[in-house]
Amino acid sequence: MPNEPATTDRLHAFRMVVGGERRAGRGEQSVLVEPWSGQPFATVEMGTTDDLDDAVFAAAAAFDGSGWATGRPLDRAAVLGQVASTLRARTEEIGALEARNVGRPLAECRHNVELAADAFAYFASLSTHLRGASIPIGSGLLDYSLREPYGVCGLITPWNNPIVLSSWKIAAGLAAGNALVVKPASATPLSVLIMADLLEEAGLPGGILNVVPGPGGQLGDHLAAHPGVRKVSFTGSTATGIHVLQRAAPNLAKVSLELGGKSPSLVFADAEMDAAISGSVPAMFSNAGQMCTARSRILVQRSRYDEFLDRFVDRVGQLKMGSPFDDAVTLGPLISPAQVDTVLRFIERAKADGARIVCGGGRPSDPMLAAGNFVEPTVITGVKDDMEIVTEEVFGPVVVVEQFDDEDEVVRRVNASRYGLAATVWTRDLALAHRVAAVLQAGTVTINTTKVSHVYAPFGGYKQSGLGRELGLEGLDEFLQVKNVIVSTV
Ligand code: NAD
Repeated sequence: MPNEPATTDRLHAFRMVVGGERRAGRGEQSVLVEPWSGQPFATVEMGTTDDLDDAVFAAAAAFDGSGWATGRPLDRAAVLGQVASTLRARTEEIGALEARNVGRPLAECRHNVELAADAFAYFASLSTHLRGASIPIGSGLLDYSLREPYGVCGLITPWNNPIVLSSWKIAAGLAAGNALVVKPASATPLSVLIMADLLEEAGLPGGILNVVPGPGGQLGDHLAAHPGVRKVSFTGSTATGIHVLQRAAPNLAKVSLELGGKSPSLVFADAEMDAAISGSVPAMFSNAGQMCTARSRILVQRSRYDEFLDRFVDRVGQLKMGSPFDDAVTLGPLISPAQVDTVLRFIERAKADGARIVCGGGRPSDPMLAAGNFVEPTVITGVKDDMEIVTEEVFGPVVVVEQFDDEDEVVRRVNASRYGLAATVWTRDLALAHRVAAVLQAGTVTINTTKVSHVYAPFGGYKQSGLGRELGLEGLDEFLQVKNVIVSTV
């Protein structure tokens, strides 16, 4: 029985997915609340480490017995392709559920359902292109390589963009022929549970995808360290990613990590200012700044700094907070009251360090917003490079705007960050743009555009922003291991 959202007391009820069955977890039932209203809207059965053991066992059995890895690639492609089609057909309904769970404006959630569909369509096509190589190694010998799935992979995903980020892992992992156990974020597990339903409807064998929601400190930890898991793919904070790497180390499980960032925008004096300003607003404030790639540090060349700041602050002031179902709303709430406290504490410490709050800086005064986890969009100036507000990821609607004088200086300053996820360069000078792109320490550099991920191209972090890549051919490779076969021909 799929996880259809119909149930008692007006709350949608979701159960975990193990071995092709929906079942109550052994853990506590969690009640999810809408982040903008505080109203409960769904219940989720949480799992325990015993449930997770069952899921790993079911995945291993399905990997060995279902033929998912050994069957016709076109059959795998058909399953993934059907999920892409169903996601597109049900964009409105699934987007609305995501909006209720995450609080993000409905238009953004609809778009994210389409991005998830793109991931399934893309990896469906790649699943028919898994090829090894034939390698000349000398006469009397034939050498060829095979690209094979790992077997059971453990996926651990964050709360901020659940449908997109989990689709990247699930579609790639399945295209490669693996069996998966997913531990979604406790706060936003719904779209992953729905995805399990869509995959089952499309013909995925039971047990190839298992979903066990539950507390990360117990379940994520247990999954990362599970001896039955050969590959761990994690998206979340840098601190947890390092912990996951350590937990997987005794098993020598392959680990890929998509982690946090403090991604800069570099606005050179010759930039097309309208584009730089209008691009920098969503690049920072989409999903209320709860994005790993939020361009949360803007550096503007001195001669255009005042102009940029005035116009940017004006545009930020036009952001409208409220319900994700109000079409006029462009800024949703944060995921939880705890995240509000975290963000407000960052702002308070920035003030104590001597920074200047140009706009925002607290909770909105509008009583209509009082029940939600809202923080005003906040622009901060007057900072020094070593202040916490410049070096650390806030994961909320808070941006710092700084000045720089020349190319070498700005590159040196942004490369001093321990992070290296994304960077955006605004300039009309093509040579400068490519020169800077070549030396920036970031997994993705965008020039005069802000969108950092496209399914066809690799996405990931340098330095403490990650290990490995998602999307593109590289994203599929993360879920494949190579076997070399050497044959005597004499
Ligand atoms: P988080 O690290 O708190 O949690 C991520 C996942 O790990 C969740 O499923 C959580 O339950 C689980 N987890 C928590 N403790 C664990 C433990 N001890 N062992 C194993 N798993 C554990 O991150 P979050 O708050 O959910 O997400 C926000 C963070 O994710 C930000 O730092 C953001 O930059 C990062 N992020 C990165 C990317 C990327 O692609 N680079 C994308 C989105 C979010």
